[in-house]
Amino acid sequence: MKQSQLFSKTLKVAPKDEPSQNAQLLIRGGYVDKLMAGVYSLLPLGWRVMKNIEAIIREEMNAIGGQELYLPSMHPKVNWQQTGRWDSLDVLYRLAEDDVAFGPTHEEVIAPLAKKFVQSYRDLPLAVYQIQNKFRRERRAKSGLLRGREFIMKDLYSFHADEADLDAYYERVRGAYERIFARLGLGRQTHYTYAAGGSFSKYSHEFQTVTAAGEDTIHICAGCGRAINEEIKAEMAVCPGCGGTDFTAAAAVEVGNIFKLKTKYSDPFKLTYTDATGTEQPVLMGCYGIGLQRLMGTIVEVFADDQGIVWPVAVAPYRVHLIGLNLDDPSVRAQAAKVYQELQQAGLAVLFDDRPEATAGAKFADADLLGMPVRLLVSAKTGGKVEYKLRTGTTAELLDTAAALAAIKALS
Ligand code: ATP
Ligand code: MG
Repeated sequence: MKQSQLFSKTLKVAPKDEPSQNAQLLIRGGYVDKLMAGVYSLLPLGWRVMKNIEAIIREEMNAIGGQELYLPSMHPKVNWQQTGRWDSLDVLYRLAEDDVAFGPTHEEVIAPLAKKFVQSYRDLPLAVYQIQNKFRRERRAKSGLLRGREFIMKDLYSFHADEADLDAYYERVRGAYERIFARLGLGRQTHYTYAAGGSFSKYSHEFQTVTAAGEDTIHICAGCGRAINEEIKAEMAVCPGCGGTDFTAAAAVEVGNIFKLKTKYSDPFKLTYTDATGTEQPVLMGCYGIGLQRLMGTIVEVFADDQGIVWPVAVAPYRVHLIGLNLDDPSVRAQAAKVYQELQQAGLAVLFDDRPEATAGAKFADADLLGMPVRLLVSAKTGGKVEYKLRTGTTAELLDTAAALAAIKALS
């Protein structure tokens, strides 16, 4: 992609009405645009990040037998009345005149849908997921991409004949979540956290990523790295993972949540199956969410430095930011074009700063702000070679194009 043709441009200063670091940097970089509080447009650069995050999540959901589908955002009021949540759910957007709700989550759609296909124990277990827009009346949308009023969530729902099967699948989802956060570069910062579970399950589990921007407080066990959400710390003095009692408090953001619903939603919709003896039994459910914009914002918060965003390789919109300087010199221009072509031929995603009018200082500042993992420079001074610098590094080296290509390919 040539930067001269990019839809967005970078901004020198952050918008005044945006207090959060993640949104400030993403807006300045042209990754997102703020439409109103808690509602952000995803621009081409930001959409590429989202697609990278989504691909990792999709792979891991498919690997645990999740079948992808896509459910509507508009839901009939009756479904929400059936569970009592038309009146009780504070974040529900209701169109009272039209008897419609905008889905903040999809139990009220998936449970009656599953009822159409689940009859006998032979039909279980099942797991379906979607990557889809959610709407929530969030009153404190001050954390940028971490808390939107419209946002994309991966939500997986599982259906089981008995508790042992639900428990076993729950652990598989947990493993998939651990792989997702590790692949996104957040493995070290993310803690499996015991949290409140509501009336049907004693606890739920959250995946909490440590960052000062987080709205939650967790207590991390020194022994095993698991954590306890402050909301239940009083009732849990000992680590349920290892029995440890030494904890460190940290601010964190909930990037994922896994929940045993048991019969909470199967009961109101009479989602049942017939067991091997011919007896009707309730289907047990689990639900498992991950917020995609929240992940993008969290990654920005965790890795950003004073200069700007620092993307892990797996989510970066482009792996390489190729900077061309002195492009009015025909031989430099030809070399830069050649490097650009070679990178693309090698299958590498590259953003080429070919802007004729921008100064060297502006180009370097933009490369730091945008945060691609590798900066490659071609200029009158690089003399047939390329200058290679990692976004996280402090030194640059002159390399042959072939050596630079090999180094870039080897990054993970
Ligand atoms: P929170 O406690 O932060 O309000 P929640 O417990 O209501 O979140 P869930 O209903 O479990 O969230 O949603 C599943 C996942 O969706 C969360 O783990 C989070 O990653 C994401 N998510 C929830 N609310 C938002 C939001 N307003 N903006 C962006 N992502 C969100
Ligand atoms: Mg929660």
